[in-house]
Amino acid sequence: MLELKGIAVSNGIAIATAYCIIEPDLSFEKSSIQDTDKEKVRLRNAIVNAKVELEEIRNQAKTKLGDEKAAIFQAHLLVLEDPEMLGMIESKIDEGINAESALDEISTMFIGMFETMNNDYMKERAADIRDVSKRLLAKLLNVEFPDYSHLNEEVIIIAEDLTPSMTAQLNKTYVKGFVTNIGGRTSHSAILARTMDIPAVVGTKTATNDILHGASVILDGSKGVIIVDASDEITATYQLAQQVYNDERKLLERYKESPSVSADGYHVEIAGNIGKPADVEAVLSNGGDGVGLFRTEFLYMDREELPTEEEQFIAYKTVLEKMKEKPTVVRTLDIGGDKELSYLKMDKEMNPFLGHRAIRLCLDDTKMFRTQLRALLRASVYGNLKIMFPMIATLEEFRQAKELLEEERQNLLVSGVKVSHTIEIGMMVEIPSSAVIADKFAEEADFLSIGTNDLIQYTLAADRMNEKVSYLYQPYHPAILRLVKMVIEGAHKEGKWVGMCGEMAGDEVAIPILLALGLDEFSMSASSILHTRAQIAQLSKEQLAQHLDEIFKLKTANEVSKYVKLHLSSINKQQ
Ligand code: PEP
Ligand code: MG
Repeated sequence: MLELKGIAVSNGIAIATAYCIIEPDLSFEKSSIQDTDKEKVRLRNAIVNAKVELEEIRNQAKTKLGDEKAAIFQAHLLVLEDPEMLGMIESKIDEGINAESALDEISTMFIGMFETMNNDYMKERAADIRDVSKRLLAKLLNVEFPDYSHLNEEVIIIAEDLTPSMTAQLNKTYVKGFVTNIGGRTSHSAILARTMDIPAVVGTKTATNDILHGASVILDGSKGVIIVDASDEITATYQLAQQVYNDERKLLERYKESPSVSADGYHVEIAGNIGKPADVEAVLSNGGDGVGLFRTEFLYMDREELPTEEEQFIAYKTVLEKMKEKPTVVRTLDIGGDKELSYLKMDKEMNPFLGHRAIRLCLDDTKMFRTQLRALLRASVYGNLKIMFPMIATLEEFRQAKELLEEERQNLLVSGVKVSHTIEIGMMVEIPSSAVIADKFAEEADFLSIGTNDLIQYTLAADRMNEKVSYLYQPYHPAILRLVKMVIEGAHKEGKWVGMCGEMAGDEVAIPILLALGLDEFSMSASSILHTRAQIAQLSKEQLAQHLDEIFKLKTANEVSKYVKLHLSSINKQQ
């Protein structure tokens, strides 16, 4: 038996077999081909080999898990046998390019087409095509392909790191949790684990060395503990804990329909963070009051080229229609930092988190930015859209972004396209400079949303991806509390509402302080919404506010945490 410790990033307990991921290198060069017939034979051989592999996996899944679970592999086989797709790849080869490039071009086109359809079945087809073409590419390149679509038993993924796009592809039916060597509480794979609502532990440093493929693993995502090859007794204890956790989650369901209101009648909004249109379902099924952050960069990931205006329009429209009149805050593209786009030539930077990311990049590449703005404006008539810009450091940046938006609005109106007249325009406060002059920004913004993941990283100068400095992720650090207070007061002075969409918004210890300070909107992973609503229902804002002076005298995050646990968690209507 072996016990490992890491950073607890997504609650819950998983008990399953270890699945160690080694990503294959599927890179290839586009080249010209003279003998196109020979190239087509190469393609057909790859298809035959991929089919044999898939049939074997499907048969295994059928015996082990039944017809329903085997259906996914049947769908993959159908893609491989699709004459239309094969014909198009062969036509591309006839133009004189190698099979790898032809396959890549055609599958990307199909994936793009299916992904934007407003139909879950079609979206699943896009995922099928993606998996199949990767498998086929591996065959063409003679590379071993440990792809997770052939998972046919419940596993816990063990990896160096999971890129956001890898995480987004994980199939929840089989992936019960994940463990990584690197990362911190606010790295994007951690955020996605919470969005998917699967337990996860990151930053273990050595998990890929210590855990063997196929070992039995217990993962406690609430405590950051991983136990490998546990005794029967320990396994039984965790099975019980898993049951208790699941029962508690069920109990919270009664808060689904209730308003988000404190014990003394103060209304707040508890919203969900999403990364793609499908995530809206979890926000709604957890009773979210709105979407407080749509991280649109995920629409740009896991593909080979920029999404078109039309593709984006459909994605935004889908979200807005599903959310109906509920507020939906869409953040414009926040790429850079730990989120790269393979197809966008981004220079290697010494300090990517301090570099050319988010609004900085968009204000440079205005063609790309304007495409997104147009898609958003066109979608605005389908719901209650609010737009916010990420990583604003100066008023000039904010004004410039607003100006571009206004120009696109005028262009659309001139061409007769309908645009909502009530879109609120806000910004994220995630850089200390903007927090300090939040009142100035609030004069020109309709709302502010505090992005604590970055605000903490920049204030404490601690890379949010680096597990060695993860102890500096301190949401209760007095400096952070002061900055948050400045932002809330600055916004309120100008009569504007202020939200928080960083992870701190769903943090049990921070919530009483944020409520006392008058935060208007709390936006978090969908899986935290009900818990937060239940917590706020027990708290009296007025009584909490009486403790603020004391809290702001405290000197360390630890002191704040102790104070809250001792005095504030129990302030409720009974007192
Ligand atoms: C943040 O920085 O708090 C935030 C919400 O943005 P992201 O985590 O996407 O950088
Ligand atoms: Mg951020």
